[in-house]
Amino acid sequence: MNKIFNIQNLVRANVQKLKPYSSARDEYKANGTDMVFLDANENPFENGVNRYPDPQQRDLKLALAKLKNLKPEQVLLGNGSDEVLDLIFRAFCEPQIDNILTLPPTYGMYNVLAGINNVENKEVLLTVDYELDIKSILNEVTETTKLIFICNPNNPTGNAFDARSIKTLIENFNGIVVIDEAYIDFSSYESWINFLDIYPNIIITQTLSKAYGMAGVRLGVCYASAEIISVLNKIKPPYNVNELTQQKALERVLAFDEVFNEVETIIIEREKMISNLEQIGFIETVYTTDANFVLVKVDDATKRYNQLLERGIVIRNRTNQPLCENTLRFTVGTKQENKKLIEVLQTLDK
Ligand SMILES: *Cc1c(COP(=O)(O)O)cnc(C)c1O
Repeated sequence: MNKIFNIQNLVRANVQKLKPYSSARDEYKANGTDMVFLDANENPFENGVNRYPDPQQRDLKLALAKLKNLKPEQVLLGNGSDEVLDLIFRAFCEPQIDNILTLPPTYGMYNVLAGINNVENKEVLLTVDYELDIKSILNEVTETTKLIFICNPNNPTGNAFDARSIKTLIENFNGIVVIDEAYIDFSSYESWINFLDIYPNIIITQTLSKAYGMAGVRLGVCYASAEIISVLNKIKPPYNVNELTQQKALERVLAFDEVFNEVETIIIEREKMISNLEQIGFIETVYTTDANFVLVKVDDATKRYNQLLERGIVIRNRTNQPLCENTLRFTVGTKQENKKLIEVLQTLDK
């Protein structure tokens, strides 16, 4: 990384010039007295959601920042990680000019979002052991490479990458390294949010969809420098996180001990699942996982996928992903669900 790294050099020119939309709720300052809200053309009859939500989600950000030991100015929230990732594209990548790097096999949304934003996605495969191929990645970087996406732990392989390789990328790249930590709560590896003060060119995304058990509320979280967050804030839709989501998510974040207990149970179940899967005759490899799912290599993935489907179990067939021939991905479920999976696998022919 260049010593005089300046984030503004990476921001698209139109975004630099942009003045964000100022919503009714952005413009007043609460003075402590009971306010009368006649500013936003809302229906005044209270029903719990008749008012626009807080566009800056102050209470929720405060709770998250406290939990993660960061400042609220280092947090941006979105309608799922998908929106957060899309904002990152739109802030930094000039369509048809800039490019990004992704490292398949990995999460499919990076490529979809690159397509939507008309930004070239240069793919650099992981090694056959699903590790980062640092030399090849750095070789692919050009003047117009703005972002490198690292999914850590990686989906669908499940493994986390060693900190030293990620550090090498961060330190040798003049753009931004986006680290998607959707599964970090299941991992024994340290979160990169602890390095935000050291590296100005990283963005960490997390989500309430996995460990926090709230896929239905759609809340994605982005942690970065206050400077990066203020750029993303300029382009986010004003009311992108609805009131019900803010309330539900806040309750859940404040009950983090419950979340940690569930995560602990899921990890125990994961370890049990791994040792049971290793006993199944047609499973050739059970891959290392730091997430709440397990990738395995079987004799014939499509055949096994269909057999499970016929018996009422839905899993993910990853056989068409690069380096993933004949692999299946199992999410760790409840004790009963995992038991059912193993029982059914045991009945299938060798
Ligand atoms: C599930 C998942 C997400 C979560 O996306 P949301 O839009 O927040 O539900 C993000 N990244 C990866 C790699 C995932 O597997």
